[in-house]
Amino acid sequence: MRLSRYFLPVIKETPSDAAIASHRLMLRAGMIKQAAAGIYSWLPLGFRVLRTLERIVHEEQQKAGHIPMLMPTLQPADLWRESGRFDAYGDELLRIRDRHDRDMLYGPTNEEMITDIFRAHVGSYRELPLTLYHIQWKFRDEVRPRFGVMRGREFYMKDGYTFDLTRDDAIHAYNRHMLSYLRTYERMGLKAIPMRADSGPIGGDDTHEFLVLAETGESEVFYDRAILDLRFGDRPVDFDDRAGCQAIVDEWTAPYARTDETHDADRFAQIPADRQMTSRGIEVGQIFYFGTKYSEPMGATVSTAEGAQVPVHMGSHGIGVSRLVGAIIEASHDDKGIIWPEGVTPFHCGIVNLRQGDGDCDTACARIEGELAARGLEALYDDREERAGAKFATMDLIGLPWRITVGPRGLKDGKVELTARRTGDTEEMSVAAAIDRVAQIYGV
Ligand code: ATP
Ligand code: MG
Repeated sequence: MRLSRYFLPVIKETPSDAAIASHRLMLRAGMIKQAAAGIYSWLPLGFRVLRTLERIVHEEQQKAGHIPMLMPTLQPADLWRESGRFDAYGDELLRIRDRHDRDMLYGPTNEEMITDIFRAHVGSYRELPLTLYHIQWKFRDEVRPRFGVMRGREFYMKDGYTFDLTRDDAIHAYNRHMLSYLRTYERMGLKAIPMRADSGPIGGDDTHEFLVLAETGESEVFYDRAILDLRFGDRPVDFDDRAGCQAIVDEWTAPYARTDETHDADRFAQIPADRQMTSRGIEVGQIFYFGTKYSEPMGATVSTAEGAQVPVHMGSHGIGVSRLVGAIIEASHDDKGIIWPEGVTPFHCGIVNLRQGDGDCDTACARIEGELAARGLEALYDDREERAGAKFATMDLIGLPWRITVGPRGLKDGKVELTARRTGDTEEMSVAAAIDRVAQIYGV
């Protein structure tokens, strides 16, 4: 992509109304534009990152055997009257009335709608287990929308719903979600810690939140430092192997890790003192087994092998896809700008032409762009007539992890520079070597 033909409205001044780094940087890097409080347009650069996160979520969900679909943003109020949540949800629920005076709402979540789909089409235990999910915009009329996309009113969420015959089956579905989430966050370059969460009035302890450590996080968290040493990695996972999945979940839930809502000071005190960590965290996901909370009032039952009718056991499992864009930036930036982890970067590599219009420089840049493209890698080529300093500042701000700089002096010896955004380390090498190195970094 040539920058001269792209739409990257970067902002030089620091926006005064943005309190945290990710919000400031997303505005400055031209990733988002506020449309109303807590509602954002995703400009092309931001949209690329959002789409990448979405793709990772889809891939990991489908590896776990979960089935994608799409439900609408607007829902009829009647479904929510059945569960009792139309009145119970409070002011966060955006209620809308259509021209025929029918009550509607902009979905903050989809338990009722998915339960309605289930009861319409599934009647037998033989059709279980079933996990359906979608990635769709949600609306919650938050009292204090803030921190940009981190606490928006309209936000993008993956929400998955599990249907099982028994509690044990539902716990296996829960475990599948825990594992697929751990892998998802790692692919995004994040360390997200599963923390035992508060299940509220439903009871039971089958809910975990996933928190990314960051000073600007809204939750206070307490954890055993040992959990930071765990890596999910590329280990093969057989999602049908119950004991195997449970063993991995046990490994990740053994070290103490809780938010202030469930914190147990006595248990925390039993951890060796040098491992007791207190910090803040950003909630990037939550998994929840809630049994028959919706299936019972809404009549979502199946027949058992013995011919009885029983309500299905359900769970719902969410990932904050749009919040993750902010969380990744909170976890990975410096005073010059964003530093994208390779797994989520909007472009694989930047190309800076130090003398636009110089035949050799232009040819070399075009060659690099073309050869990277031939290997499936997308470069953002700054081909503007701009000072070198301005081009570097833009690249540093938007945070592409690798930059190839092409200038007339180096090219005389057939050399370009490859710079790592994170360290600033720069190496001189031939054009071919730079292309190979970038390809190698991305494993292509
Ligand atoms: P929070 O406690 O932050 O308000 P929640 O627990 O109400 O979130 P869930 O219902 O668990 O949210 O939703 C699943 C995920 O959606 C959350 O883990 C979070 O990552 C994301 N999310 C929730 N509310 C928002 C919001 N207002 N803006 C952006 N993302 C959100
Ligand atoms: Mg939550």
